[in-house]
Amino acid sequence: MGGQPMFILSEDSERTRGDDAQSSNISAGKAVSESVRTTLGPRGMDKMLVSDDGDVVITNDGATILDEMDIEHPAAQMLVEVAETQEEEVGDGTTTASILAGELLSKAENLLEDDVHPTTIVEGYHEAAQIAQAAIEDNVIATEPDDEQLLQVAESSMTGKGTGELAAGDLAQTVVDAVQQVSTTDGVDRDAITVHTQVGAATSATELVEGVIVDEDRLSEEMPRSAEDAAIAIIEEDLEVKESNIDAEYQVSNVDQLNAAIEAETEQLAEYAKAIAETDADVVFIDGDVDDRVASDLVKEGLLVFDGVDGDDIDAVGAATGASRVGSVETLENDDLGSADSVSVEKFADDELVFIEGGAASEAVTIFARGSTEHVVDEIERSLNDALDVVTAALDAGGVVGGAGAIEIIIANQVRDEAASIEGRKQLAVEAFADAVDVLPRTLAENTGMDPIDALVDLRAAHDGGTAAGLISEGQTGTVADPIEHGVLDPAAVKREAIDSATEASTMIVRIDDVIASN
Ligand code: ADP
Ligand code: MG
Repeated sequence: MGGQPMFILSEDSERTRGDDAQSSNISAGKAVSESVRTTLGPRGMDKMLVSDDGDVVITNDGATILDEMDIEHPAAQMLVEVAETQEEEVGDGTTTASILAGELLSKAENLLEDDVHPTTIVEGYHEAAQIAQAAIEDNVIATEPDDEQLLQVAESSMTGKGTGELAAGDLAQTVVDAVQQVSTTDGVDRDAITVHTQVGAATSATELVEGVIVDEDRLSEEMPRSAEDAAIAIIEEDLEVKESNIDAEYQVSNVDQLNAAIEAETEQLAEYAKAIAETDADVVFIDGDVDDRVASDLVKEGLLVFDGVDGDDIDAVGAATGASRVGSVETLENDDLGSADSVSVEKFADDELVFIEGGAASEAVTIFARGSTEHVVDEIERSLNDALDVVTAALDAGGVVGGAGAIEIIIANQVRDEAASIEGRKQLAVEAFADAVDVLPRTLAENTGMDPIDALVDLRAAHDGGTAAGLISEGQTGTVADPIEHGVLDPAAVKREAIDSATEASTMIVRIDDVIASN
């Protein structure tokens, strides 16, 4: 062949290969993980994220931080995905997973510098991850946590989340109550729990509503604000004069004809309220518009009616009360009606909310979350959802383990012990994995203001003495103590997922030695 070079990529593509590609990817991944380190644990700090258009989010939640951060680097993006997967699969532990992934990358970088082949690192990490999973399995405290343990799991996930120390206990109880309401022998129906936020009151005013809340307005202020033992109709129709009848071409040549036309219209409109009143309905949700004349008839009938109800709310009302949607009032029958113990309209500042409690068709519950400002309720909503997820995971997905870094110390010890029997350079990778897991207790120590090296030494000593120990943060300080005694528990599923997703992402990044970007 001649000396002609062959070009297979367009001139615009950028290509980075070998060590350069690896080190740039690893640095990007480490940077992402670094950015959430200070938020880990109950003494973790919050971040304020300001978007292009000036929206402000204040949060301590790893997944939210990374999601808001507008990260572009492709390898860094893979760490964002770790947090996303963690959030989707178990709903908590996102900071833990990102920090671990970053540290696995950092240790891999050292191994690469010592000429350990990427494939060896990948194999070693996978093997270590399996040992870690076995260590978690062996150290599950309760596969079927009791009420007190569930409460502790909820509290551990909520402390330090802007919910306030005092409120955290009550909120945790509300979370456990909500989960127990929708829990059957088949498991927890997590989708049956909604969090509805409303600013304007202290967080301690948060309560559990045994039903659903929808944000809809009454058709008229003259209608009642509530109904007990209510029969509920859902109508998907505009209660107006039908277009065909008010044809623009309507030829009116004398007053009689005009009166006749108006009368026909009025009669047609009167039919709507009459048809509804003939059924047992007390409360009506209408997705369409309602003519003023129909509205006044409905007031006279003493009905509580909501118009222009949006699709999601129609779904929620139908699911809770068992009401079927009816396309035309003419066909509405008692069989179509749903029912609820009570429907009530309550006023909050400028908003009116409809509480539908004791619906006949479902056990759906709503946590009605209060907070003094928009930022507070947003963070409370995130933390309630995390807590609902962890309590669900603790009940449905394999129980709980000791938190506050205790399970991580156990994992690291186990991996280090078993590394000894692994041959060749792979042993170095397995040991590196164990060292990487130590970053979690170390970071907890840093964030609590403890000396991280002393803390790790004390933790290991306690474990060697046969007690499970973690870095329990109480008030302003941290102490080395038994997390189970102090009620700091995490779901095993959160730890399992963190190990898996961090291992996946870091090994995927280590394997890449060629980045081709087409611009
Ligand atoms: P993540 O996004 O990983 O859930 P968090 O900021 O929620 O991050 O911190 C979770 C860690 O904090 C877990 O390891 C948990 O065991 C620990 N933790 C929770 N409560 C306490 C406590 N009172 N003392 C020490 N550690 C705690
Ligand atoms: Mg958490």
